[in-house]
Amino acid sequence: MRQLASIQTVNATEPIPNADAIERLRVLGWWVVVKKGEFRPGDRVVYCEIDSLLPERPEFEFLRSSSFKPAQMDDTGAVVQPAGFRIKTVRLRGQVSQGICFPLSVLPSGAPVEEGADVTDLLGIRKWEPPLPLGMSGRVKGGFPGFLPKTDETRVQVLERVLARHRGKTFYVTEKLDGMSFSAFLRDEVFGICSRNLWMDETDESNMLARLARRTQLKDKLQAIRTSRGFQPALQAEVIGPGVQKNKYGLKEVTLRVFNVLDIDAQRLVDQPAMLAILRAVGLEGVPQLGSIQLDHTIDELVAFSEGTSVLNPQAQREGVVLRPFVEEYDEDIGGRLSFKVINPRFLLKHDE
Ligand code: ATP
Ligand code: MN
Repeated sequence: MRQLASIQTVNATEPIPNADAIERLRVLGWWVVVKKGEFRPGDRVVYCEIDSLLPERPEFEFLRSSSFKPAQMDDTGAVVQPAGFRIKTVRLRGQVSQGICFPLSVLPSGAPVEEGADVTDLLGIRKWEPPLPLGMSGRVKGGFPGFLPKTDETRVQVLERVLARHRGKTFYVTEKLDGMSFSAFLRDEVFGICSRNLWMDETDESNMLARLARRTQLKDKLQAIRTSRGFQPALQAEVIGPGVQKNKYGLKEVTLRVFNVLDIDAQRLVDQPAMLAILRAVGLEGVPQLGSIQLDHTIDELVAFSEGTSVLNPQAQREGVVLRPFVEEYDEDIGGRLSFKVINPRFLLKHDE
């Protein structure tokens, strides 16, 4: 689980050119702009990552004019996300700032203060989620199936040790697409489709995902994979296009771009070369492949590397890149597959995230 708010140590403070009142400080792999002199290297702070939604409490009220978000309700008027203050990427005097730091005094008494401690729940902080896209509703069959991994990528900014551990290794790079996560599987003759968190009814054509699955003949394609490869397959893909995340790539049609092929029984993702061969054989497109890099980079260098426009539309900033080894590997810090994302700060600034 992502730690939105945690105890961290200020690693360094640095001046910002042409700015007297503010400076930047380093926490984990992030740069945060703060008032000059507010914190010193070695100080322990409460660090809240971007996407934190801070509750309406007096100590956070100073954020109201810049960051307030009203509560979100569902169709029945039930609150699905309370009101609060949303922390996002900003640029101040040319310096990108991601996250916010508070002195430890913001914590209730008795709170843990050791480095790395997770204080998200203690502070009532939640993850900001944008309002649900339209056309996403439809009959639900159940929760997300236990035999599929939930799609998720860790941010490079919390992976300093991981970068050190895998230095010198070659990773393949794909473009991270900003759409919506989708999974489809064929298991014991059951064909199923899932949104990020739910198993949806594949026969309910009011749901965009069900229409997409039918139009792309996904069930037949999964059957073909099973026949040729001899395992029960699942696909995980990003759905992009009209009606999804403001269609940032300007596509004419809703489209699927696969990033995972899974052998369900082995609970293993197919390695990249075999995955590309499978997709080619059944006529499915993968996420854009951007080549490979030999890892020998600082976090800042990887963030600079993530900048660029999208392969799908050169007018659009890309959301970022995802790095993975060609052969699947476990990483102990990630606590799962070695794979991580680097988000393009220009994308976040452009889209006000
Ligand atoms: P966080 O909680 O860390 O902010 P999130 O839950 O919003 O992240 P994302 O930032 O969307 O998740 O990152 C992970 C998701 O990225 C995956 O679930 C997948 O749907 C999507 N994705 C898009 N492009 C790719 C790609 N090239 N490789 C892997 N995943 C990708
Ligand atoms: Mn996302």
